[in-house]
Amino acid sequence: MSGSSAPAQPKRRAVFVDRDGTLMPDLHYLGNPEAAEVTRGVGDGLRLLRQHDYAIICITNQSGVGRGLFTEETVHAIHRRLNERLSAYRAHVDAFYYCPHTPEQNCECRKPGTALFLRAAAEWSIDFRTSAVIGDRAADVEAGARLGLFTVLVPEVAHESLVAAELSQRGVRPDVERADFGTAATAVLHRG
Ligand SMILES: [Zn+2]
Repeated sequence: MSGSSAPAQPKRRAVFVDRDGTLMPDLHYLGNPEAAEVTRGVGDGLRLLRQHDYAIICITNQSGVGRGLFTEETVHAIHRRLNERLSAYRAHVDAFYYCPHTPEQNCECRKPGTALFLRAAAEWSIDFRTSAVIGDRAADVEAGARLGLFTVLVPEVAHESLVAAELSQRGVRPDVERADFGTAATAVLHRG
């Protein structure tokens, strides 16, 4: 631990981004790292956020691990692959946190649970008040709302009615909704 004379480190801001359906297409239970591609607009959007001093933290539910459909090593390989893809845009994700459990396990890390956000905030010294979440599902919005994050919903076109139903069922609303990641990133910068 640091001594008493050490200055307190100022907390940083972050954007918590969802993975499947947000950074990359939602390929159900993706087990093939080679298939991991970033969605259009994500590379430029992440670079823009980094230029404005946001740490980029990906928080993702990966119940395929708990279901035995793929291994944690495959999850790590997909994350390495995503960062390789993002390097073409001079962008990258600083850290990935994933929940390997199934909903039936009732863990606290599966979104809308906030355990992974809290762990990331502790490890990266993140201030939720100046941070945001970008995701395609109601669980992202709900987790963000619990923590006081600025919440940006980017629903996939094919899931718009499903997501609208989820939001109404959970009784949550995003601060803003945008059609693509690039405009979502701009919304984070302007907080609206
Ligand atoms: Zn979990």
